[in-house]
Amino acid sequence: MSSGTSAPGPRLRPSLDGIPTYKPGKPAGADAYKLSSNENPNNPLPGVLEAAVAAAGSFNRYPDMGVSELTAVLAERFGVPTEHIALGTGSVGVAQSLVLATAGPGEEVIFAWRSFEAYPIITQIAGATPVPVPLKANGDHDLDAMLAAVTPNTRLIFVCNPNNPTGNVVHRAELERFLDAVPGDVLVVVDEAYIEFIRDPEVPNGIDLYRDRPNVCVLRTFSKAYGLAGLRVGFAIAHEPVAGALRKTAVPFGVSQLAQDAAVASLRSEEALLVRVEALVQERNRVVAGLRAQGWDIPDSQANFVWLGLGERSADFAAACAAAGVIVRPFPEGVRVSIGEAEGNTIFLSVAEAFRKEID
Ligand code: PMP
Repeated sequence: MSSGTSAPGPRLRPSLDGIPTYKPGKPAGADAYKLSSNENPNNPLPGVLEAAVAAAGSFNRYPDMGVSELTAVLAERFGVPTEHIALGTGSVGVAQSLVLATAGPGEEVIFAWRSFEAYPIITQIAGATPVPVPLKANGDHDLDAMLAAVTPNTRLIFVCNPNNPTGNVVHRAELERFLDAVPGDVLVVVDEAYIEFIRDPEVPNGIDLYRDRPNVCVLRTFSKAYGLAGLRVGFAIAHEPVAGALRKTAVPFGVSQLAQDAAVASLRSEEALLVRVEALVQERNRVVAGLRAQGWDIPDSQANFVWLGLGERSADFAAACAAAGVIVRPFPEGVRVSIGEAEGNTIFLSVAEAFRKEID
């Protein structure tokens, strides 16, 4: 039977037209350094790779849907009850479950902007309304403005600490003041994807903040410091019923057995992984110092990337980097450059120096 040329296609939700498709950082060619996705440049530790390979032998089976071993190891590592932990397909998967669990049509999700580009997308997928609140001129979250944006329709607020893509952090005193002022029926998600790279002692650990606050949820990932970006595993720590709601809204079996076992092995090899994180922090400090010596005015990044607020020159700068064999991430407001292998970072610094001279 022919469908005929005039048959209508399937009826999709009209609101999808206004939702952008998530754009990943550009892949790099074989001989280029990829500094566009805030990945960990180190290959997996042998023990972590072995755990994943061993799990691969049974991928004809579904994974453990309760993620029981990893949940138990995380609960012990962070000193929280197992019922307070919910895992998902990357922390972006958990973030999407959080929005689905809290907000729908006519309800609002507040976040700083520019921040992690998935926030407005997952909000719109849920049919809810994104409420972006501009960062301050220096790249800090404007928590007073975010508080002023709260309405009776607000259901969720993301605080990205450190902020992707600027690297700025929110300090303990201001975050506590903010959390105490937000209505108790609004969920505040503190997205700590880059927490292991923080060296500023004034930045709080969200886990200390959630303990006596039922409306605070901490979001973490194995993708950055732990180097498991390709395996897709992230988690939330929150009180019931938030953690329970996440278990309902997550895709069933969304964390593969490879991911679960590699994450357990990573936590068991944490010391070795954190030595690598410290080396990346040292590299970040070298890059920040190098850029400032060249005359760049950049935020004090506490993450595994740096931010050049280049505005309309961003695309030109990214093209200059690409020509030199380094792939970076341009946004309308600026360029984000991940900290990678030392050689790639050094090439980026030399492009930045030449560009600085050109625009001075
Ligand atoms: N939160 C922030 C702030 C991020 O930058 C990212 C990744 N770019 C994520 C969450 C999602 O990471 P993943 O899904 O790999 O855990």
